[in-house]
Amino acid sequence: MAYNKFLNPMTEEQYRKEQNIQALQMRFVESGRTAPFERGVARIALTEGCNFYCKFCHNEGMSGITKQFDLKQLDTILGAYKDKIKSIKLVGGEPLLHRQFDKVVEICQKVAPTSVTTNGSMLQKWMQSLVKLEGVTVSVHSLMNERYQDIMGTSSNVEEVVAGISELIAAGVNVHINCVLTRENQDEAERIIERFAQIGVSEIKFLEILKVKEEDGDLYFPLAELTERLKKKYGEPKVAGSTKMAFPVNEKTSALLVYQYCSVGCNVCRVEGFLRIDPEPALSYCLAAEPVSIGEEASKGDVEGLKAKFELAMNGMGKPTGYTYSVKGRKRPNLVQIRQFQADNKAQEVQAGL
Ligand code: SF4
Repeated sequence: MAYNKFLNPMTEEQYRKEQNIQALQMRFVESGRTAPFERGVARIALTEGCNFYCKFCHNEGMSGITKQFDLKQLDTILGAYKDKIKSIKLVGGEPLLHRQFDKVVEICQKVAPTSVTTNGSMLQKWMQSLVKLEGVTVSVHSLMNERYQDIMGTSSNVEEVVAGISELIAAGVNVHINCVLTRENQDEAERIIERFAQIGVSEIKFLEILKVKEEDGDLYFPLAELTERLKKKYGEPKVAGSTKMAFPVNEKTSALLVYQYCSVGCNVCRVEGFLRIDPEPALSYCLAAEPVSIGEEASKGDVEGLKAKFELAMNGMGKPTGYTYSVKGRKRPNLVQIRQFQADNKAQEVQAGL
């Protein structure tokens, strides 16, 4: 039902939030999931570093040379959890910044089908490894180059990213697009769907912006409005998960809408079956939870200790308390500064012999 300020005592924002929570609860019940980690999706953050500065980043992506997941520890951790993990998603920061991404893929694929979520700036560099993956998700928040560079805080050209995506599809890779919908790009949604459907992308996912930082509120655009627009074009959507609705676009492509799902303590990630393993290394099932360190166990190869920490991360310690990532926040530079940072990072890497 549309918001009517004369009939409703809540503000429009409160009303929409309330509606989202109710819809979320309904879909949660429909999805029938109750056991933690039932879907067994391990999100492995290969590095906290990122070469982009998206406006709405939770700041998992830090600039400069940051810690990268140690290959030996990764092998040990995955070995300990291999019976629990059903699929692996490589994330970051920007996961393709990992200097041994090819080796990471080999280790992960021994354990479970593996996919990656990337900003698309290094598709060419790792093409040979990417084509071996189960799937590649590329974040593209606009197809208009100037807007793309502004939203994503990069000097990369969006058409080069789209060319890389076409190459992946031609090689038979299942490609998804992530697009965070805001006031600044909502007018492009239908165009983004059409362009990516045309080149054979399987899924175009629109994510409602999470209000983690104060500025996120200014960018907020209610996904309910896009839902109404797409209904007119593609008919009624299908429930696709506790926070998701899907519109079939053609036989190969669908548009997926992921509604504002995260309010600290909501437990969705836990029940949906997610586990984040970050490069410290540490475990958490929610970005807003205090991570549970597994560094000692991973370096000693203590499999029983790793298993015990898994239970702690899921059930005891590490309960969501608030977003720790936003506290670490980076100040967002302008494009000239970004080019300078990118050049400086390259020089630092060369100097460090990386
Ligand atoms: S691509 Fe954007 S959202 Fe992702 S880590 Fe980098 S800056 Fe953050």
